[in-house]
Amino acid sequence: MKVIPITPRGYCKGVIRAISMAKKYRDSQEPVTILGMIVHNQYVVDALEKMNIKTVDKKGASREDLVDLVDKGTVIISAHGTSQSVIDKALAKGLNVVDATCLDVIKTHDLIKEKISQGFEILYVGKSGHPESEGAVAIDPARIHLITKISDFDRLDANQKYLITNQTTMSIYDIFNIFEAAKEKFPNLELADEICDATKVRQEAIGNVAKEVDIIYVVGDPHSNNSQKLAQIARQKTKAAVFTIETVQDINTDDLLDKKVGAVTSGASTPTYLTRQVIEYLERFDPCDKSTYEKPKIELDKVI
Ligand code: SF4
Repeated sequence: MKVIPITPRGYCKGVIRAISMAKKYRDSQEPVTILGMIVHNQYVVDALEKMNIKTVDKKGASREDLVDLVDKGTVIISAHGTSQSVIDKALAKGLNVVDATCLDVIKTHDLIKEKISQGFEILYVGKSGHPESEGAVAIDPARIHLITKISDFDRLDANQKYLITNQTTMSIYDIFNIFEAAKEKFPNLELADEICDATKVRQEAIGNVAKEVDIIYVVGDPHSNNSQKLAQIARQKTKAAVFTIETVQDINTDDLLDKKVGAVTSGASTPTYLTRQVIEYLERFDPCDKSTYEKPKIELDKVI
C-alpha cells in the first residue's frame, strides 16, 4: 500500500521533556510516583512502570485526590500541569515534588493569573475532567469559567470584563467558532488563543492531507485529547475513512482491502516506535499476499 506519513506528527517538546525528567529517576532508591498519566498514552505509562516509576491514577479522581495515594518519595507532576494547591498538599506530606508541566501550559497559567489580577474573569475553553483544564480552573475557580460549548456562555453576565483562552490541545477550528461566538456575546472581551504550536502544526498538516488518500490512521491513546482532535479534523477536512488506533494491533485488515493510499499521523503523546510500526505494516500490506497480514508484536522496552 502507498503510505503518506504526515509530518509533523508524534511527540512534542513538552512530552519529550516530561518523559526525560521521569527517566532520570529510574535508579532512585526512594519510590517515584507520577500523579496521573504523565502523558495520555498507556504504553508510555507501562514502559515507565517497568523502570520502577509508578503511576497513580483513578477514574474521576482529581490530582488533589491522587496525592492521598502517595505516602513517600518523589511525585512527578505531568506535562498537563496542576494547581498550586496540589503541589502544596504534596509538599505538606513531605513528598519531593518534580514539576514536569509543559512550559506552554505554564505560559497559559501565567497569563490567566495576570488577567485575574487586572480584574478580568476568564472563559477557559477546555475539556471537562481533563487534567490540563482542571489545573487551569483551579487557579481561581470562582473567576475562571470552564467553557465546553457555546451555550455555556448563556449562564454568564454579558457585562463583565472577560479574557477568553483555552486548553493547549483544542481543535483550531472549534476554537475559532467559539471565539467568534464569544466576540458577539461579550462586549468587554480580550482573546488569547493558547493552542500550542505543536498542536497547531499537527492539526494543519492533517487538514492539508492529499486528496487521493483513502484511509487515515491516527495513532494515539483514547484518552489523548490531541489525538482525538486530529481524528476529528481528519473527518471534517477529508473524505478518507479515519480510524484512531493505539497500536498496529488495532488495524482491521478488512478496512484495507479496497484502499490504495493511506496516511498516518499520531498525537503528541504517541511514542515514535508505535507510529513507525503502523507505517511499516501498511507499507508492507498487500491484499493479495496473506503473509503480509500478520502484525508485529509490541516490545515494551522499545516504547520509550
Ligand atoms: S501538546 Fe503542547 S502544551 Fe501539551 S505538552 Fe505538548 S507542547 Fe506542551
